[in-house]
Amino acid sequence: MIVLKFGGTSVGSAQRMHEVAQLVSFSEPKIVVLSAMSGTTNSLVEIANYLYKKNNEGALDQILNLEKKYFDTVNELYKTDEFKAKGKELIQSHFNYIKSFTQDMFTIYEEKAILAQGELISTALFHFLLQEQGIKSALIPALNFMRIDKDNEPDLFYIRENLQREVKEQEQQSVYITQGFICRNSYGEIDNLKRGGSDYTASLVGAGINADEIQIWTDIDGMHNNDPRYVENTHPLSHLSFDEAAELAYFGAKILHPSSILPAKLANIPVRLKNTMQPEAEGTLISSITGTEGIKAIAAKDDITAVKIKSGRMLLAYGFMRKVFEIFEMYKTPIDMITTSEVAVSLTIDETQNLSKIVEELQKYGSVEIDENLSIICVVGNFIAESKGYALKIFDALQDIPIRMISYGGSKHNVSVLVNTSDKKAALQALNEKLF
Ligand code: ASP
Repeated sequence: MIVLKFGGTSVGSAQRMHEVAQLVSFSEPKIVVLSAMSGTTNSLVEIANYLYKKNNEGALDQILNLEKKYFDTVNELYKTDEFKAKGKELIQSHFNYIKSFTQDMFTIYEEKAILAQGELISTALFHFLLQEQGIKSALIPALNFMRIDKDNEPDLFYIRENLQREVKEQEQQSVYITQGFICRNSYGEIDNLKRGGSDYTASLVGAGINADEIQIWTDIDGMHNNDPRYVENTHPLSHLSFDEAAELAYFGAKILHPSSILPAKLANIPVRLKNTMQPEAEGTLISSITGTEGIKAIAAKDDITAVKIKSGRMLLAYGFMRKVFEIFEMYKTPIDMITTSEVAVSLTIDETQNLSKIVEELQKYGSVEIDENLSIICVVGNFIAESKGYALKIFDALQDIPIRMISYGGSKHNVSVLVNTSDKKAALQALNEKLF
């Protein structure tokens, strides 16, 4: 079995859905994970925002706009009157449901139910399309098997048991279709795996079904060696190890959701990144094979805040770091980079909702300084311990860029530097010139 995930742009129009139907028409059984059609989840977020503010008129305007888009898509998507009618009935029922929230109380629970509609619609439309084309397919509802626990972590045992049962119940299909992104939480309520979470679904589904391969189809031909938005002449990487890909995804390569590597890595299932617009292009294969030594790619992550804690008490003391880390743990705020000196520790975060409370706690241990608008530039590759010269090359390239923090040696796959976001583009370009 293989798992193929298609993102929002890959199913973003009737024509694109036809292309996806073509891509999944080979005979081997497969599970197809779909995102909502592009723009839909954003529109649903806007609708929810109107409803929170009790602006029912604004919400209804948005709902009608989106509904019209879907009616147009249905008209274009199907050939026969029978399926056009089925499609319209489907859209009508989902939009009647969305409209019903303009009358009721609106809470986070209703918001999550609204956000789920995008994937529920795209998968149902695609299922009809395959049926119209005579392709044997079954819809397996993600809400019947995808579950997160009370810490918002996927419940792997539950997912595996229930996914396998769902597939068994509908044996002999060529295509099993399911929704990306959506899930149930530990209370059984509709929830989701956070924005962009369909990649994560694909990886969890692949692990749950012991897939031979997980394919993530987007509109770029694999992971590139640098950010094509800021640097010219980047090229796709044909192979990355799980660890290299995880570093790149976490530190800014937009093509893959950062959480999606781990389930595939633990189950040792290769992940292939492919381009729907250019299906013949090789893409990037991510697997347990470490591959050649050397620098492979550069990525950047924005909206980073640095926190510096300076304390005389750190001198010769043990337990200081634990106290600092516990404060971040208490406010569920992940730390990305960390550097220490004898009198100070600097670290970076990208979630700042609880920053003021964190600072208040940290001030018990010393003075605290905050720097905002920073970017982490991450150089990824396979730097075996004995290899010399990588750091020199990196810092030589960055000689004109002010560097706020450096992280080297945390793993054999990553050297990171923290710079002002205003210097990011120059840093990416300079590294590109010197390293590749
Ligand atoms: N539709 C969701 C989003 O836009 C999930 C996804 O596309 O991966 O975030």
